[in-house]
Amino acid sequence: MARYTGAVCRLCRREGKKLFLKGERCFSDKCSVSLRSYAPGQHGQSRKKVSEYGLQLREKQMAKRYYNVSENQFYKYFEMAERKPGMTGENLLKILESRLDNIVYRAGFASSRAEARQLVLHNHFRLNGKKVNICSLLVKPGDVIEVTEASRSNDKMKAVVETWSARPVPMWMDVNKDGMTVKMDRYPNRDEIDLEVAEHLIVELYSK
Ligand code: SF4
Repeated sequence: MARYTGAVCRLCRREGKKLFLKGERCFSDKCSVSLRSYAPGQHGQSRKKVSEYGLQLREKQMAKRYYNVSENQFYKYFEMAERKPGMTGENLLKILESRLDNIVYRAGFASSRAEARQLVLHNHFRLNGKKVNICSLLVKPGDVIEVTEASRSNDKMKAVVETWSARPVPMWMDVNKDGMTVKMDRYPNRDEIDLEVAEHLIVELYSK
């Protein structure tokens, strides 16, 4: 499925939640969700009764958009989550959190997941000492990601890290901001993932 290239703020308005897709703007009073807290489009302000399927679909769309992944990729992660022991919904979120672009974003090396994706694609990172440019790569506990030597002196990279490194870092990773490295210590617990999503509804949707 093609990647969405339209206005991303519409996606947040559609879900009625901030999905933090635009970096700095998301934390300013220019955020579209704060300014217009209704769905986009001609019928955005009309009140509709939402079916059970509609609720499940919205939760899935929200998670998919939050992590900036395609429908196919999202479904593959669901299948992986199903095969793992434990709760499928929670497993799904842990898999999404361990994507390389998400780790780069969470560590404060990018202002949004979209920017993290771009930086990874442009070869700005190494994983365990080897160059890597695959955003969907799943990082494992113990893996170390570092900004490449050449990119450390890159003005854009320096500015991004300086601006966003003040953001709180999750407990499940260890970030060295001066050395521009991040080590994933473990998978996050559900209560350490800040996405307000009813993951059991996603499991119900895909289990039909
Ligand atoms: Fe979403 Fe950020 Fe746009 Fe606000 S500014 S609507 S949080 S993408």
